[in-house]
Formats: sequence, structure tokens, C-alpha cells
Amino acid sequence: MSALADIRARIGAAASAAGRAPAEVTLVAVSKVQPLDRVEAVLAEGHRVFGENRVQEAASKWPAFRECFDGIELHLIGPLQSNKVRQAVELFDVIQSVDRAKIARRLAEIMAETGRHLPVFVQVNTGAEAQKAGCAVDETEALVAECRALGLDLRGLMCIPPLEDDPAPHFERLARLAERCGLPGLSMGMSGDFEQAIAQGATHVRVGSALFGARDYG
Ligand SMILES: *Cc1c(COP(=O)(O)O)cnc(C)c1O
Repeated sequence: MSALADIRARIGAAASAAGRAPAEVTLVAVSKVQPLDRVEAVLAEGHRVFGENRVQEAASKWPAFRECFDGIELHLIGPLQSNKVRQAVELFDVIQSVDRAKIARRLAEIMAETGRHLPVFVQVNTGAEAQKAGCAVDETEALVAECRALGLDLRGLMCIPPLEDDPAPHFERLARLAERCGLPGLSMGMSGDFEQAIAQGATHVRVGSALFGARDYG
């Protein structure tokens, strides 16, 4: 079985175990830093939903892949700076990392200008980590309201739990917040914990190394 088939089977099993339909869970294949041949192999197997965390890196590889493969859906899952918003809107199909009002406003401006109205997620810093992107838990509802007031196509919330923590309480916190905000989307769960995330309601799991192999930052 290929790694992709294996991950899909595990997603299906986790969804079924939670009494959910496997189709409720979207696999976002996180291709950052991976050699192009590994990414191309997953494209050739028919997968189309990918995640990148840097605008610049995505710009260097995805326009070429789009010329060879139809129907690619590219998610930005890393921090967004306001001077990169235009490029991000041109390059990506979904923005998962809206974490402050300034970025939400800039996105609304550029989307109005370009006519590209991308679905977005608000990223929440559930672990209150100083170095991590995401809005504070208690600022989430205000940011959600701001996104709605701006007319953004807000789909859900996203989180990256602290590496050293048990992810379960973070997933639960995000699920509760999303419910309170009336948002259906939950982007949570990575290679080590996506099955747990699915049990707790994830609609999008972001899987990198379990699918492509370890990232080599050398
Ligand atoms: C890199 C990354 C992932 C994937 O991590 P793995 O542990 O390799 O699955 C998921 N989400 C975000 C935001 C990332 O930056």
C-alpha cells in the first residue's frame, strides 16, 4: 500500500470509529520542504489537496504543478504577513491562517480587488505560546465577528497544539470555540495525532511527514 492509501485508510477508519462519514474529513497533504518528486508522486496518485506554510516556497513550485495537474486545491497553513497577502490570494485556494484583524482587512481588500473570494479559517493559538501564530482563545469570537463583518468566506478554525502537550484538550477547546461561533470547519490534527483529531471532530487534517517521509531541512 502506498503511504497515501495508508493515510486515507486510517482517516476512513478513524471517521467510521467516530460514527462519521470519511468524506467529512479532508486530507491536506503538507508538502513543505519535501522533494518535488515525492509531491509529484502523490499528485500522480490522484490527490489534489495540499498545504504549504510559506508563500515564497509555494510560489516556487505550485504554478508548475498546476500546469501539469488539474483541480489542485492549495491551502496556506503558515503565518501570513500583510505584504504577502496579494501574492497569497493569487497563489492559494484556501487561507487557514487568519490570526488578526489587520490580515483579515487586507484579505478582504485584495479579494474585492481581484474577485478571488477564498474560503478562510481563523487560526487560534490554543496553547497561548508566545512564538506561535494564531489569535488568543479569548479574542477568537471578536476576530470571527470581524471576518464576518468584512464579508470573508469564513469556514472554520485551525490550531497547532504545542508540540509537548497532549493535543486532546486543544482539539476540544477548538471544537467548542467553533461551535460557539457557529463554524462547521475544524482544521486540526497532524501526522502524530490526526486520528485523535478526527475523533474530536476535525474536518481537515494536515498530514506531512507520515505521508511524504521526514522533512530534510539540511
Ligand atoms: C508542517 C505542518 C504540518 C504537518 O506536520 P507533520 O507532523 O509533518 O504532519 C501541519 N500543519 C502545519 C501548520 C504545519 O506547518
